[in-house]
Amino acid sequence: MKLHVLHCGSILVSERVPFGDGVNLRNTAGELLAPAKSRVKLPVCCYLIEHSQGPILVDTGWCRAVSPAGAYDPRAVARLLPPHLAALFHPELGPGEAVREQLAARGLRPEDLACVILTHLDPDHVAGLRDLTGARRIVLPEDEYFWACRTVYKKRQPWSLWKDAPIERLFYRGSPLGPNRWAIDLFGDESVQLVNVPGHTDGQAAVIVRNGGRFVLLAADAAFAPRNWREDIVPGFGFDESFQRKSLAWLREMEAEPGCAEILCSHDPDSLPRTIEF
Ligand SMILES: [Zn+2]
Repeated sequence: MKLHVLHCGSILVSERVPFGDGVNLRNTAGELLAPAKSRVKLPVCCYLIEHSQGPILVDTGWCRAVSPAGAYDPRAVARLLPPHLAALFHPELGPGEAVREQLAARGLRPEDLACVILTHLDPDHVAGLRDLTGARRIVLPEDEYFWACRTVYKKRQPWSLWKDAPIERLFYRGSPLGPNRWAIDLFGDESVQLVNVPGHTDGQAAVIVRNGGRFVLLAADAAFAPRNWREDIVPGFGFDESFQRKSLAWLREMEAEPGCAEILCSHDPDSLPRTIEF
């Protein structure tokens, strides 16, 4: 099986976002608006899986409208995101980086995808949906959709980015996998499983892609780098710190499994665009 790591833009955020360890909205809301020079630039990773059912895309990154000319464009960002999210993410999408452009470079149209998996509904993971009109199947855990309509998620996950997309909502079921023992077996053969890793958001899914005895685990934003689970450093600004810790503990367990080829985080600067065969 082949899995391609794609960089679909970047975010420029406070360094407390990846390694905040206890930093949350109540104790350091100001960090979200930190000046640009004190921030870290992180990639926004998506993944293209060459699967026997057809190509599968995991997450969609930023859409072209966020950087129409391929560079940081605050006016374009303001058209897409409310001010607090524009300030938090400082998003940028370079030339050729939009997911649709990267698919086209591989000779693929959105309708050629067997499935688009959304790990969660934060804008850096779903904005690219608007460039994927024609995609036949877009799936999301129902638990993520449920919470997106409630509480602070309404401020964090603008409906305009995903509400009109034909999203198929799938239910987590009991499973041996994950900190919550909740997973979705996408094709019923354990080759692609969405595993609930709560904390960053309640419904967030990690994705396990399995080929025989080997697997790659896409951790989404349960961790920002291996350091998070290896040193037990909780990323900042999660929704529930105790659930974040449980999700990190599970990633630590999974890394120790003999079949683990790699664990990839959506915003790890060391996760470079490349192809992984396993
Ligand atoms: Zn993210």
